[in-house]
Amino acid sequence: MRAIVRRRPVLWLVCFLAWGVPALAVQGGPKFIAVTFDDLPLNDAGVPASRMRDITERLLATITEAAMPVVGFVNERKLDVIGERLERIAVLAMWLEAGLELGNHTFSHPSLHHTPLVDVQKDVILGERVTNRLLAARGRGRMRFFRHPFLRTGLTLEIKESFERFLAQRRYTIAPVTIENWDWMFNAVYTAALADDDLVVQARVAWEYLRFTEAMFDFHERVSMQLFERQIRHVLLLHANELNAEQMPEVVRLMERRGYEFVSLERALEDSVYELPDRYAGPAGVSWLFRWDYSADRVIDWSAEPAPPAYIQRMYEALSN
Ligand SMILES: [Zn+2]
Repeated sequence: MRAIVRRRPVLWLVCFLAWGVPALAVQGGPKFIAVTFDDLPLNDAGVPASRMRDITERLLATITEAAMPVVGFVNERKLDVIGERLERIAVLAMWLEAGLELGNHTFSHPSLHHTPLVDVQKDVILGERVTNRLLAARGRGRMRFFRHPFLRTGLTLEIKESFERFLAQRRYTIAPVTIENWDWMFNAVYTAALADDDLVVQARVAWEYLRFTEAMFDFHERVSMQLFERQIRHVLLLHANELNAEQMPEVVRLMERRGYEFVSLERALEDSVYELPDRYAGPAGVSWLFRWDYSADRVIDWSAEPAPPAYIQRMYEALSN
């Protein structure tokens, strides 16, 4: 894998320099975005608690510096590591100590498409125990938001609506996503390069990650203009992981260059667009922009949505095998 990269260091240096030139802000007017992080305490549950703490500290430093009112979505099963449980709970509490909000992402991250509805519902309830106690201990009530694992909302409308009724009964507001950037895939390749001490691959993955994030913003902002003739209040999905601990300052700059102000998820959801129907039932875990288009006139060419570079996909597949 590394040989592919080392053949072309000059090309990548040129690209890296090109990236350093500030991109021009796209479109005028106020733009708002709520930033959310999934899979807390950490995307990669195999990381030891001490490293988890270090990654979380770096992430939270950037989030605090940028004054982003983030919601982090928790999988409490990741706390259940013998000998590390209390330390992992303490890492989770760091998000609350930073003044941020925590939401439910289920206990064990099941797919609604491969798990019976009743079991997913039990998993939602199981995922409330520790986080709600942390919230209550700080006089902050209980979790308000729910994020579907894999953004999978049901293979049929019957399952989708039944699950939504269950969530409403437990007083959850569903946390939609309009933009995401496959950071989990880039992160897997990045952390492998980190373990190999391969600085060339690390630099290239970081560069590809930022370039791809920019491309995803370009595409989804265009979709927003096509569907609504304005920039809706977006919701960005990221994951708590090593790559973002390292690259979050650049991701923040990318959004600021594009003219975004950071708002809470609650404020983003005040945009009337979130009242539009979502009648999508199917296998894909997709952006709510796709769902609104699917539920209305279907005017967007979704085949034009950017995919991560083949280089990243190949390396990810090699790691997964
Ligand atoms: Zn997740």
